[in-house]
Amino acid sequence: MEVFERAAGEHHEQVVFCLDASTGLRAIVAIHSTALGPALGGTRFHPYPSEAEALDDVLRLARQMTYKSAAAGLDLGGGKAVILGDPGRDRSEGLFRAYARFVDSLGGRYITAEDVGTTQDDMDLVRTETRHVTGVSLSLGGSGDPSVATAKGVVRAMEAVAAHLWRDRTLAGRHVVVSGVGKVGAELAGRLRRIGAHVTVSDVRAAVAEQVACAIGADTVHPDKAHATECDVFAPCALGGALNPVSIAELRCAAVVGSANNQLADQSCPARLAEAGVLYAPDYIANVGGVINIAQELAGYDPDRAEAGIDRIFQTTTTVLAAAAQGRITPVEAADALVEARLRAPGVRARRPVRKG
Ligand code: NAD
Repeated sequence: MEVFERAAGEHHEQVVFCLDASTGLRAIVAIHSTALGPALGGTRFHPYPSEAEALDDVLRLARQMTYKSAAAGLDLGGGKAVILGDPGRDRSEGLFRAYARFVDSLGGRYITAEDVGTTQDDMDLVRTETRHVTGVSLSLGGSGDPSVATAKGVVRAMEAVAAHLWRDRTLAGRHVVVSGVGKVGAELAGRLRRIGAHVTVSDVRAAVAEQVACAIGADTVHPDKAHATECDVFAPCALGGALNPVSIAELRCAAVVGSANNQLADQSCPARLAEAGVLYAPDYIANVGGVINIAQELAGYDPDRAEAGIDRIFQTTTTVLAAAAQGRITPVEAADALVEARLRAPGVRARRPVRKG
């Protein structure tokens, strides 16, 4: 594996390999950029089939965090960490403490949070060894689970899409298909129902989909058919890669706006969506609500300030869609251009982390 070449390809600043024999910890921390501030991003605990796949994942996710935070106007860089292993089998207090000491050794250049395979309890444990962690319990001065904030932000992005397409931001009466009703999807579906949208939900865990549908008054659809359901907005809220050349050809929606990270399977997808006449709100623009929320912890958590930041996702999405329409480019190109302009702006440089407490 050509590790240096791989990291240099996307201009990562630093990659740290963490090994603790006594607890079996094997982790990788990737810092993509600290140009705008400390690199914030979650810790994924996953049984990767190989070390190369773990490295690929952490590099890709760290870069996406740079784009996500920069587009949202946050003074944060992009980073991510992966712990190699099965979270069901390999988790232990010692392992998380050992991991946390590696995070601490980076002196705040990297700030962690929960992600797939890790929980708020894990972050509370990490907090015992380092203050460079967010998303800890409210009792520890944190902001708790970021999923609610993420769902709120997706609604704001959907409203911007509605305003762009139909000159009316209200989602009442619109039909939204939510694919994946886990932490974010279930919250999103409930919020949409409360503001009068017609909602159809879908999940590979059929019983969970039924339960959510029953609780909020939604319809259900088989997960294989969710993307091909006729609707106004399709909301991918499960795993990445939901939109590929095959699924895009089957879409019967006006727009795609969801929480999933890395929704597009390959680089041909933005153009394919445009050709299919489907307006796509880039994932990292729409799903930043959780990051906006936990970022508030760095200055002392203030729910009102967090809420105001999440509301600004409406404006960011509006700006991206308008720039795309005006420049006759895809929303993905418009969003990337917005970020790259911010990163290249005069005066932007690596900064020392700033953190209260
Ligand atoms: P989660 O694990 O709680 O929920 C995911 C749900 O998707 C589960 O119910 C699962 O059964 C379902 N699922 C898996 N494969 C599916 C498929 N093929 N079709 C339909 N359903 C399927 O995860 P989450 O925290 O709700 O996150 C959802 C997505 O949003 C992920 O891609 C995550 O990376 C992204 N995201 C989450 C947050 C957050 O705050 N939790 C923030 C930003 C992005």
